[in-house]
Amino acid sequence: MTLPDPNRDTRPRLLILGGTAEARALAQALAARGDYEVSLSLAGRTRNPLDLPAPTRSGGFGGTEGLAAHLKAERIDALIDATHPFAAVISRNAAEAARIAGVPLLALARPAWTRRPGDVWTEAADIPEAVARLGAAPRQVLVALGRNEVRALEAAPQHHYLVRSIDPVAPPLAVPHARYIEARGPFAEADERALLEEHRIDAVLSKNSGGAATYGKLEAARALGIEVIMVARPARPEVETVESVEAAVAWLQGLGLPKSPA
Ligand code: NAP
Repeated sequence: MTLPDPNRDTRPRLLILGGTAEARALAQALAARGDYEVSLSLAGRTRNPLDLPAPTRSGGFGGTEGLAAHLKAERIDALIDATHPFAAVISRNAAEAARIAGVPLLALARPAWTRRPGDVWTEAADIPEAVARLGAAPRQVLVALGRNEVRALEAAPQHHYLVRSIDPVAPPLAVPHARYIEARGPFAEADERALLEEHRIDAVLSKNSGGAATYGKLEAARALGIEVIMVARPARPEVETVESVEAAVAWLQGLGLPKSPA
């Protein structure tokens, strides 16, 4: 007869798909509780990610099948998709992989920003449309899109771009007027206002990411009457979704998860 290993962790196993402040906050909250064995997954895009409060793996799974295989191999009891609202591919993969592996799935997604009085917003369905909406005449544009999709700016080389991203844009954009700032939020409204004024910005390109950390640029643009070209969120799969860490913890508790089998 084989005796159970007394050192084996028998807590339910959770996988959090991360790369966001929400994923980090959830991992932190669960680590403090101690009643789940939590691991986090990052795409591996950011060169120096912040320290995380749970064991972390990095890099793609190899599509839906790869993620489903990972869920099975690691005996994951519940999957939480806490990826960024614009990370549509991994969210689709998560929905399908959870179905294949028979693992309960929850999405944790911050609410979108909504227009407030004084906001001058132009909505765009995607980044190429947002770039086109800058118009023909040259403008001074703060680009807050992250670095992965900024190549779309090359379609409108007449503008002067101030491109902000965590990691450098490499190679630089093939446009005559671009400057680059490497910075990681949160960004305070007063600092954003100073930045917009210093560079005489007259348009802000933004994704509708939601959340407090990068809202300062929208408050600053409102105060200065500057137009924001706001890129709408991509479609996400229809899965149960909550907006807060507390609600995600409540969902987990409601699952009444059994211990992972040996
Ligand atoms: P995406 O287009 O939805 O995903 C592309 C591929 O990257 C996925 O198919 C998957 O590769 C891999 N991947 C994405 N997230 C992963 C994760 N958490 N763990 C392991 N693999 C992951 O994603 P994206 O827009 O490039 O974003 C990449 C990551 O950056 C996400 O984790 C997201 O939370 C974070 N992020 C994105 C944005 C944004 O604006 N898009 C902003 C802030 C943070 P395989 O198919 O090989 O599994």
